[in-house]
Amino acid sequence: MKKALVVCPYCASGCKISFTVENNKIVKAEGANGVTNQGELCLKGYYGWEFLNDTRLLTPRLTQPMVRYKRGESFTPVSWDEAIRFASSKLMEIKAKYGPDSIFVSGCARGPGNEANYVAQKFARAAVGTNNIDCCARVCHGPSVTALEQTVGSGAMSNSIVEIEDTKCLLIFGYNAADSHPIVARRILKAKQKGAKIIVCDPRVIESARIADIHLQMKNGSNMALVNAMLHVLIEENLYNKEYVENYSEGFDKMWETVSQYTPENTAEITGLDPQLVREAVRMYAASPSATILWGMGVTQWGQGVETCMGLSNIAVITGNLGRPNVGVGPVRGQNNVQGSCDMGAIPGQFPGYQSVEDPEIRAKFEKAWGVESLPAKKGIPITEVGHNVQEGKLKAVYIFGEDPLQTEPDLSAVREAYEKLDLVIVQDIFMTKTAMQADVIFPATSWGEHEGVYSAADRGFQRFYKAVEPKGDVKPDWEIHSLMATAMGYPMKYNNTQEIWDEMRQLCPLYYGATYEKMAGLGYVPWPCLTEDDPGAQWMYKGNKFNTPNGKARLIAADWKPPLDQIDSEFPLILSTVREVGHYSCRSMTGNCSALQTLADEPGYVQMNMKDAEELGIRDQQLVWVESRRGKVISRAQVSERTNRGAVYMTYQWWIGACNELTVEHLDPYSKTPEYKYSAVRVHKI
Ligand code: SF4
Repeated sequence: MKKALVVCPYCASGCKISFTVENNKIVKAEGANGVTNQGELCLKGYYGWEFLNDTRLLTPRLTQPMVRYKRGESFTPVSWDEAIRFASSKLMEIKAKYGPDSIFVSGCARGPGNEANYVAQKFARAAVGTNNIDCCARVCHGPSVTALEQTVGSGAMSNSIVEIEDTKCLLIFGYNAADSHPIVARRILKAKQKGAKIIVCDPRVIESARIADIHLQMKNGSNMALVNAMLHVLIEENLYNKEYVENYSEGFDKMWETVSQYTPENTAEITGLDPQLVREAVRMYAASPSATILWGMGVTQWGQGVETCMGLSNIAVITGNLGRPNVGVGPVRGQNNVQGSCDMGAIPGQFPGYQSVEDPEIRAKFEKAWGVESLPAKKGIPITEVGHNVQEGKLKAVYIFGEDPLQTEPDLSAVREAYEKLDLVIVQDIFMTKTAMQADVIFPATSWGEHEGVYSAADRGFQRFYKAVEPKGDVKPDWEIHSLMATAMGYPMKYNNTQEIWDEMRQLCPLYYGATYEKMAGLGYVPWPCLTEDDPGAQWMYKGNKFNTPNGKARLIAADWKPPLDQIDSEFPLILSTVREVGHYSCRSMTGNCSALQTLADEPGYVQMNMKDAEELGIRDQQLVWVESRRGKVISRAQVSERTNRGAVYMTYQWWIGACNELTVEHLDPYSKTPEYKYSAVRVHKI
């Protein structure tokens, strides 16, 4: 019997788990005393590991490389040598014929870890010669990163998860912590118990709304109008911190020019809110000695996601709620390592450590370290534009690593059509995902629990995770597979272990230089920036109110509200919004293969709707229904309650049957290219 310490691979709360292992099988999971979870876990932490013990579950684990030599035929199991030979020669042919930018490589925000993402982006940039690398951060907090890099200079949470419970006021905007980050939800509850005021902005009666002092139950699609109205009240009623604004920010007058038009009264038709309640909420936030804003995908997955995040940043800046403990801006990242895949440069415009690919000096540094003559200078394409680029004939091959775009991208029929046109699809994963089923080559990888490395939690905290069990089957760690592919393509890459990768990365990234393996050993937790080996890392950022902008001042940038693209009408009268459920995670490939979690939520797809809407449509709770949009039609089961607001329905995106992304609209935020998953016009009717 042995113990092994891992970090949970589901949400980005960064909970540490202690496994008990007997005969290469996990027999028990307990909460370890990690910085963010302090011994606690949610159900996914306790039960989300069963597939590590058994490869013959609902969806079989991938245990051998496979090649589909001809489209339409079945996969042939092959040796690693043959799989690498076939995939690398095809990629080189495509590169020679169409250029390196005809290839797209994905990073992975889940189990593989930071080292694997560092190697994946190095493979894309140095071996293929393209910046066409991106990860699923694009579809969740891409807008937060784009916005906060503009306003305060860094796209991450300014303060840590542990500080949430000591803030005096929480403004929770479009963020359902109970379903997405249960351990963060515990912190919110503790904050309440310690006397914090809670303001929730959400169209549904989510769990946090039940303990809120004020619930602003606004209409779907009105975020930007509400944020502007809040800024308006702060300024009109002199509730903001003038001294802070003068000393530490710029752009106040221009911002006021925009938000001066948005009183709570004249935005009431858009938001559906009582203007007096909006004013009370703003006064409550402004009167608190410390206040924290937490937001989730209810803010980001909109055509105006970036502009709304900028508005939330403005609220924190003009009230002086930055640059000290227990305050700040908190875009709470979704998947366990979505912060890490961005930290490691699995994004189209930046090398690891948020260093621009367009900066010649930065490129020269990486060219020297990686031993290549030149690295691509042009930003690559985001993962959400793969389909368009295929249709326009610009992209010919994709190498998908631990993601499942054929389940998670909006308007799936259009994405499927694009993937069918590709000359080559390589998938590196642990399960036969929907995307893997359409691949030409499958590389089977080790899972979390079978390899080691470092993850970044939502609050920038680096933590090490260790190997618990030996992998089953002929599988390899992700970083080794990318290294084999690079070598076969004429760019030799070889590492003996993850520490070699980490140390190479840290030498190139001043932001993480001090985060050594030794410092992160065991329960160690090192939030970046961590500049020297003596530096414990920054639990909260912007000390001295110095922001990471060129002149050190926070920028105040406002925008007008715009209506969502996919308007409702008499044919499609309801708004569909995608949401999470607590029992499963993302595309469900891992949690769907754990029987305890499967028992908790085993219904393939449901649609939450309001009681009165259901009554008018003659639909009863638990009845099977059709949900249709202008793009597709799926079967689902009605879940009728008062907690859902009128005029809107909500579906999770995990299930193969009733996959709500058959219905969602592909309307991208113009700056971050994040889809508007939160607003698609649909109709629901009985079967
Ligand atoms: Fe913690 Fe999130 Fe894992 Fe639950 S899913 S144990 S909250 S990291």
